[in-house]
Amino acid sequence: MEEQDMPKDIYDVVIIGGGPAGFTAGIYAARSKLRTILLEGSSTVSQITVTDIIENYPGVPETSGFDLLDAMKRQAGGFGLAVAQETVSALKAQVQDDFSRWIVETEKRRYAALAVIVATGASWRRIGVPGEEEFIGRGVSFCATCDGPFYKNRAVAVVGGGDTALQEALFLTKFASSVTVIHRRERLRATAILQERASANPKINFAWNAVVQEIRGDQTVRSLVLQDLKEGPVREIAVDGVFIFIGLEPVTAVVKDIVRCDERGYIVTGDDMKTSAPGIFACGDCRKKSLRQVITACGDGATAAHGVQLYVDEVQGRSYGAWRSP
Ligand code: NAP
Repeated sequence: MEEQDMPKDIYDVVIIGGGPAGFTAGIYAARSKLRTILLEGSSTVSQITVTDIIENYPGVPETSGFDLLDAMKRQAGGFGLAVAQETVSALKAQVQDDFSRWIVETEKRRYAALAVIVATGASWRRIGVPGEEEFIGRGVSFCATCDGPFYKNRAVAVVGGGDTALQEALFLTKFASSVTVIHRRERLRATAILQERASANPKINFAWNAVVQEIRGDQTVRSLVLQDLKEGPVREIAVDGVFIFIGLEPVTAVVKDIVRCDERGYIVTGDDMKTSAPGIFACGDCRKKSLRQVITACGDGATAAHGVQLYVDEVQGRSYGAWRSP
């Protein structure tokens, strides 16, 4: 990159990602008076915005994901956080005059920053069977909140056995006549309270030890071909729609060659959210961790912003340091 192409302004930190982790980092960074900008993808949405009910965020008995994130955004705005709707396409290191900084490139411009907080989250995993891509938007969905109302009095299936699958299956019972949860084992991964609610719901039935082999239809989805993993036979069930919730893939393409990631692509960090690259911190669902929840994303975001504050002070030679007697 030529010197004349370099951004003149240097931010203390650029936050990439506009979910709970990113906005919490933004609140903490703005309160610390770090010169900060948060970039939220113009085409991608945080998973939380399509979650209809959140009931395990302490102090907030029940809210929607959209409302909770909206409150976080307004809170961050109140502290003066700058936000831009731009998608990051590349991240490059630049060392100049012994001074290292990161160049964050978007479709519109380049930003220079001493530190970067990666809060890019994760996106829905695909099953990878015939019909899945072909019928997206015509019966295959990854968002019950968005598409559930189209299935009033119709039969739908949900694939997966985790928290998302059960939570969304329960939501779909508001509209659908029946919801078949298709899971590859004979017990669920989901948390006990969701299992209890799903088992007690008369509209929900389970296809155990089953995997989807093919999604069939004409203009829209008409049926699923299921293989029974225990007994062996293949059967076809009639459905009008299928909702796929089989877990997440980290959104780490722009950093995967810069920071250390695990075998599944999640960013490896320390407890302080530092990655293997100096000045790059990661938080929320994109990092390797044991529990992916809104509350843990927020905790990560706060820790990352605190780490950035210490890092920026150190780079600028104004660390607070230990107290010494004068
Ligand atoms: P998850 O916990 O990873 O569960 C994915 C489910 O899909 C598992 O049951 C898995 O089966 C199944 N699966 C994976 N690959 C498959 C394939 N190729 N074919 C068929 N089935 C497949 O993912 P998640 O439910 O999306 O949850 C993600 C994170 O968000 C979790 O940490 C979860 O706790 C959290 N979350 C929490 C809440 C809540 O607290 N209310 C709500 C939503 C999500 P196996 O069990 O056999 O591996």
